[in-house]
Amino acid sequence: MTAMALKENRAGALTYFTAENLTVPHAFTTRLGGVSQGYLASLNLGFHRGDDPERVLENYRILCAALGTAPEAVAAAHQTHSDIVLTVGPEEMGAGVTKPRLPACDALITGLPGAALVVFTADCTPILLHDPVTGAVGAVHAGWRGTAQDIGGKTVEAMVRTFGCRREDIRAAVGPNIGQCCFETGPEVPQAMEAQMGPEAWGFVRPAGEKYYVNLKAINAQLLRRAGVTDIAVSDQCTACRTDLFWSARRMGDQRGSLGAMIVCKGGGR
Ligand SMILES: [Zn+2]
Repeated sequence: MTAMALKENRAGALTYFTAENLTVPHAFTTRLGGVSQGYLASLNLGFHRGDDPERVLENYRILCAALGTAPEAVAAAHQTHSDIVLTVGPEEMGAGVTKPRLPACDALITGLPGAALVVFTADCTPILLHDPVTGAVGAVHAGWRGTAQDIGGKTVEAMVRTFGCRREDIRAAVGPNIGQCCFETGPEVPQAMEAQMGPEAWGFVRPAGEKYYVNLKAINAQLLRRAGVTDIAVSDQCTACRTDLFWSARRMGDQRGSLGAMIVCKGGGR
């Protein structure tokens, strides 16, 4: 088990975070370093946020250049707060970026060298996965509903089933999301976590009057551990505390862009 902060990286104005345990190109983006304007300034990766598609595509070019890839190689999740994991092959490269979008899915996996995966968040939990033995990678959008459906663990299972990964070889990074400091909920959220995890869930919940503060980073990390992953980096940043740096749905409502968590497959043996 690892609990290390992520590292801040800059490439020109582009600012993004990486995890040292993932040894392939990857990024948890911030809102800094893109070309979008107004309330979307400046790095918005969502084509459905009211942005000019040309500016969004340019944002992809900027991010992809920093990771040594290109928008045509990226498959973007078509997120619906489901627990659907989709495998990306040659046909899916470019989907949702330079080609029509994928069918509904909240997690992507691939073993195809050169393919890149991206999921989107603005408070929800992004998780990136990498198996250095097989080279397989995964990207997960875990909202609280997805977390309660154990989408992270299901993505690990899909990597084991599809690419023959060993669970103990898979490394994970849990990116910036809405922290326990800001994720105030009603009883439905901790109850959904208890339904998935049992009473252990309450160890990640701080009650406050009729409300609850839920630690989604720790819950996702624990669900990954239950799935057999031992090497897990966890961000210490809160998207809702740092709206200067991140997009936050809770703080900004609809007037905000989308963060991306992107990872590039480089094949096996590293
Ligand atoms: Zn916070």
